[in-house]
Amino acid sequence: MYNDYRKHLTAIINEIREGGLYKNEYIITSPQGAEITLESGQKVLNFCANNYLGLSNNESLRDAARNALDGHGYGMSSVRFICGTTDLHKKLEKKLADFFGTEDTILYAACFDANGGVFEPLLTDEDAIISDSLNHASIIDGVRLCKAQRYRYENADMADLEKQLQISMAQRFRLIVTDGVFSMDGNVAPLDKIVALAEKYKAMVMVDESHSAGVVGNTGRGVTELYDLRGKVEIITGTLGKAFGGAIGGFTSGKKEIIEMLRQRSRPYLFSNSIPPMVAAAGIRMVDMMTETNQLQDKLHRNSEYFIAEMKKLGFDIKPTRSAICAVMLYDAKLSQEFAARLLKEGIYVIGFYYPVVAKGQARIRVQLSAAHEHEHLDKAIAAFKKTGIDLGVIK
Ligand SMILES: *Cc1c(COP(=O)(O)O)cnc(C)c1O
Repeated sequence: MYNDYRKHLTAIINEIREGGLYKNEYIITSPQGAEITLESGQKVLNFCANNYLGLSNNESLRDAARNALDGHGYGMSSVRFICGTTDLHKKLEKKLADFFGTEDTILYAACFDANGGVFEPLLTDEDAIISDSLNHASIIDGVRLCKAQRYRYENADMADLEKQLQISMAQRFRLIVTDGVFSMDGNVAPLDKIVALAEKYKAMVMVDESHSAGVVGNTGRGVTELYDLRGKVEIITGTLGKAFGGAIGGFTSGKKEIIEMLRQRSRPYLFSNSIPPMVAAAGIRMVDMMTETNQLQDKLHRNSEYFIAEMKKLGFDIKPTRSAICAVMLYDAKLSQEFAARLLKEGIYVIGFYYPVVAKGQARIRVQLSAAHEHEHLDKAIAAFKKTGIDLGVIK
């Protein structure tokens, strides 16, 4: 029987390969950071990690993790409600709530789980979810698991959101859900306008701060800081896997009754393991660091502004962004692959994205800035972009 199935899978995989959509993975043999070593021995500058604050290999976080490893052991071997909750888990939940100005926080193994488990316990078929068309896959999957009526509005399109809200007035409760920063363009959701519409149409708001926490807002508190809406949205989800240390873990933060209900009914929380104590301890240290000083956030903002300004000066077509994501538009899929391959030869590691990850004819290279980047790293990347851009006829 497996022979038939093997043929079936092989045919699909071949189709993926022939379509140029096969994903190859580069193997890294060093810690994650601004400079990494590939299996080939090549050292490259990394401009495609979500390591926004450069904390992936931070010494202070490693110390906190090591101390917890010695004091609390390696794993929990349990879900939270049986015997998987330590003082470190509770402390991190409190720290994250204080960080975002919310009432309580619940931890998950990943933000994928936070989003997968947030809708179904809170809303029924009497209710409505109104979701941005470019929301993350985990939000889309989470919405699918919930019986609420589904409405979709075009990315950040407030006229369309209002239209969908009007249609959804037939339902009992409404929840608008949006990414804080959209990962392919780096644009920020217009949360001020979303909250205003939510008030007008009696809706609640959920924002996924995965790409914005640690990045957006003067102190990195995310999109709610940028728009002065701290404590004003009902639900925030986020990850410990990007700016916040980059290991693993996710969370939902918000109104205390919502978090309480999730602890009772959210399936990825009830039926999946606790994060390791060392990850919780490093998370606590991370929040402390971001509270004690604004150095990392400031450096990230300086790096992003400098890189984007220099790229625009060179004549590159950059998508409007207010995050640490800089989308260098090339439009042509093949060109984006050729461009990325040449940059790698120059020692700059970036990824070219094209359909179906982005819309047809919208191929690009996504550059992600980090507080780990030094000025010379940025200049080296800019020089490589300039050389490759001229060689490939993208800029003059
Ligand atoms: C990365 C990301 C996630 C998933 O986070 P994990 O903790 O890695 O599962 C969820 N939502 C958004 C918007 C993301 O960018």
